[in-house]
Amino acid sequence: MNSKDRIKVAIQKSGRLTDHSLSLLRTCGLSYSRGTDQLICFGENMPVDLLLVRDDDIPSLLAEGVCDLGIVGLNVMIEKAVTGPGLVLPRQAASLGFGKCRLSLAVPRDFTYEGPADLCGRRIATSYPRILGEWLEANSIVADIVMLSGAVEIAPRLGRADLICDLVSTGSTLTANDLVEAEVIFESRAVLMAGDRPEEDIRAEWVDRLISRVEGVVRVRESKYIMLHAPRSRLEEIRQLLPGSEAPTVMPLDGRDDKVAVHAVCRENVFWETLEGLKAAGASSLLVLPVEKMLA
Ligand code: ATP
Ligand code: MG
Repeated sequence: MNSKDRIKVAIQKSGRLTDHSLSLLRTCGLSYSRGTDQLICFGENMPVDLLLVRDDDIPSLLAEGVCDLGIVGLNVMIEKAVTGPGLVLPRQAASLGFGKCRLSLAVPRDFTYEGPADLCGRRIATSYPRILGEWLEANSIVADIVMLSGAVEIAPRLGRADLICDLVSTGSTLTANDLVEAEVIFESRAVLMAGDRPEEDIRAEWVDRLISRVEGVVRVRESKYIMLHAPRSRLEEIRQLLPGSEAPTVMPLDGRDDKVAVHAVCRENVFWETLEGLKAAGASSLLVLPVEKMLA
């Protein structure tokens, strides 16, 4: 196959998203060989190659048409996806279930923060000037944004800013730097981004195929297959209790007129409480099974 018939997926070369991105693509059936310092990994069983880059570069690689798909934090996607000559907004941003974090304002311990008004005229260090700028504007606050590409958390100690706006997941980095989380301004997670649809049919087909496999993998993570026996008389009540299921399959049970077997794919996790509720509604022989693959 000719290289212009292959599609490229950009993922983070080394960082918090790397292992999750690689394992997601592997679950989608992609196998590839990865050298230690490689920038590109060739897919062995599909015309799909991986480009290993800094996460910040992914939105522009998509906008420039260098890549067809990319896995990146929503924070980076929103921060970088500017409209302008040569840049195209992503066609799709599907959430992938990892990379959860929040962009928050954090202040030194002795800073009293009671609300956005306390930020007027302050210097805020961040790597996310666009998202922060929009938030400040929405709150009618005029403050100075100090753009730093890294080590934002030490800016107040160095006297470069009064407070910071940075990504937080557990909060331990803030605590280690004597900062207190004051306000969450943006919730983020990893997303699948697509650039413009390729013109060549064969590439467009692979882009669509990969997107639908990714969607399938993500959906399956939360999905369960549930089987149970239900009294005919309480079937409707039991159907209502099945979390996130569409039309279940209802089958007769050999030699039993009073009960039926119900099978359903539940698109949400099935918790013990749900099973207890089903049992209380007369269900018996309850079985919950993981779903391995799903193609809607
Ligand atoms: P690169 O060298 O690729 O630019 P980076 O230092 O910008 O790496 P990482 O720290 O690996 O990136 O974070 C990548 C993404 O992981 C972030 O943009 C964000 O979407 C997500 N993330 C999840 N939790 C956190 C966190 N606690 N701090 C920073 N990023 C987080
Ligand atoms: Mg980065």
